Amino acid sequence: RSTANDRRVLVIGLGRFGGSLAEELVAHGWEVLGVDNNPRRVQSYADLLTYTVVADTTDDETLRQIGAHEFSRAVVAIGSHLEESILTTSLLVDMGVPNIWAKAVNRRHGRILQQIGAHHVVLPEHDMGERVAHLLSGRMLDYVEIEENFALGKTRAPLEIIGRRLGETGVRSAHGITVVCIKRHGESFTYATADTVPQKGDIVIVAGKTDDVERFAELK
Ligand code: ADP
Repeated sequence: RSTANDRRVLVIGLGRFGGSLAEELVAHGWEVLGVDNNPRRVQSYADLLTYTVVADTTDDETLRQIGAHEFSRAVVAIGSHLEESILTTSLLVDMGVPNIWAKAVNRRHGRILQQIGAHHVVLPEHDMGERVAHLLSGRMLDYVEIEENFALGKTRAPLEIIGRRLGETGVRSAHGITVVCIKRHGESFTYATADTVPQKGDIVIVAGKTDDVERFAELK
């Protein structure tokens, strides 16, 4: 089982999350085995994924039959069925699957998945809720918190940096943020340098502490 150039992923649970994930993986050249115990779900993904199979993944023997132990990457995308999610994850851990990603519906669920040995736990609804909170004002056009208290934000260039070289504006010391990329109307994003002169209507991507990014996006 070598992880390096293995482009195969096992996706368990073809609900909204698992289904979108599996399709995106296929679109990016991964071989995906999609599994669900609901035949209709499997049917609807049969033509979209590399392989699909109807199986109950809470059964050890069944998991072996579908070759789960041979995968170096697996995603447990069973959310709302707590017991099924936990059992499936723990079986994959026992089998020694080296990269297990598991979806949790809330923090408590996430904590359990982590404790039984999932390597990565994702909380899509929780994370999206937090993200939308930062977009709500309408000034922040996109937002990603990279880690606790460090974020990237996409916003319109505020008046005070327009028409001047970024190096002269002193935005970094004044606002604690760094302009990383810039996009002129109708063009694509390019990296920003000290010589970049933002124009009215430009969109910028800035990096910095969460509150600083938030405050910068509020500038007119
Ligand atoms: P979402 O919120 O992403 O739609 P759900 O939790 O509703 O996620 O869907 C999870 C999927 O996992 C469903 O399609 C369900 O049939 C499937 N599933 C649930 N239990 C098992 C199991 N024991 N084995 C295989 N698939 C399962």
